[in-house]
Amino acid sequence: MEKQMPKVTIKNSAKNKFLHGYPLIRKEEVLDVQVTNDWVDFVDEKDRFIAKGYLGEQNKGIGWILSLKNVPIDHHFFIQKFEQAKQERSTYFYSQDTDTFRIFNGEGDGIGGMTVDYYNGYAVVSWYNATIYHHRQLIMDSFLKVYPEIIGIYEKNRFKSDLPESNHFYGRKAPEPLIVKENNVQFATYLNEGWMTGIFLDQHEVRGRLVDGLAMGKRVLNMFSYTGAFSVAAAFGGASSTTSVDLAKRSLEKTKEQFAVNGFTLENHKIHVMDTFDYFRYAKKKGLQFDVIVLDPPSFARNGKKVFSVAKNYGDLIADSLPILAEKGIIIASTNASNVPLAKFQKMIEKSFQSGQVKCHLLESHHLPADFKTNSHYEESDYLKVLIYQKVSK
Ligand code: SAH
Repeated sequence: MEKQMPKVTIKNSAKNKFLHGYPLIRKEEVLDVQVTNDWVDFVDEKDRFIAKGYLGEQNKGIGWILSLKNVPIDHHFFIQKFEQAKQERSTYFYSQDTDTFRIFNGEGDGIGGMTVDYYNGYAVVSWYNATIYHHRQLIMDSFLKVYPEIIGIYEKNRFKSDLPESNHFYGRKAPEPLIVKENNVQFATYLNEGWMTGIFLDQHEVRGRLVDGLAMGKRVLNMFSYTGAFSVAAAFGGASSTTSVDLAKRSLEKTKEQFAVNGFTLENHKIHVMDTFDYFRYAKKKGLQFDVIVLDPPSFARNGKKVFSVAKNYGDLIADSLPILAEKGIIIASTNASNVPLAKFQKMIEKSFQSGQVKCHLLESHHLPADFKTNSHYEESDYLKVLIYQKVSK
């Protein structure tokens, strides 16, 4: 018989949204927060079963609903979740030109607090709270039942603890770099360097647009370029030149490497280790013009005394882009800031167009791709917003 699970009482005022599928528990919604690593039964104030789940503190919320059915949270449960997620990604697994994507997206696939990414035969699992981490052996055993072909696994420990940010967990170690491909563009990735690997997989659709048309014959400026992933995609898509700008010193070597693994020389591809706003001033002074400008900053960044946040300053990025945007130029405006809803993001951008007296129309908008499956009852989890505008010629 299954052992008795600890019970956690959900307030009546919050109960209904969970019954309708909302997965994230917040502190103010439960009556008695007891610290436990066990799976718990969430019950209502009359002690009636609501859901199975767990408590685990992370940057958002204090726990997750795992099942509205009163089923054991065991091997079988996890195997089913991984199998379903695998099936839903079969087109990705069959793809000839992409071998890196997300294979399990937390609450979108039914288990909040963890994600798994696939990198050409290897898996990278991220744990977002200590409770789910505590159960990792059970979870990864189940994972390997569904993915026996996985060569090696790395873990990213993304919660407060003394654990390293990254460690090798299972199987063979990946080569460094591990070359992966997306839309036939190769990327040098490092699976064991802190939380990041060198590529943000949630942007593969947008990079795909640069590969298959948007960048052809264009001069592309990539701000906040990190390892230059957008620049390399643009080069692959026939850009006449690319310019990558990032403040971090490491971005220079990393970006050079991405061009090198794709066989590009750097003749038409410039890389500047520089503050974005300094680059805008420089480019304006030099009279440079670009046909495509990519603006994908971190939600929040500090450079010395200067603080940048998407919520406050995204409009400045747009305003500074306008003087160097060529006729019919394209702006790819992107943010992963979950505190900035799409409507607000769009308003900030369009206000800057107005103040700059530049007419632009919205060509396309993108959000998370299908492999980053989201829970339809939990809209905030679709954090990615990408709006592509084109300047209307006078
Ligand atoms: N657009 C990238 C990811 C950006 S990650 C991609 O798709 O791969 C955020 C990057 O912004 C980091 O590499 C960081 O070094 C850089 N950054 C932060 N503040 C900056 C600033 N003021 N100027 C230029 N780059 C900055």
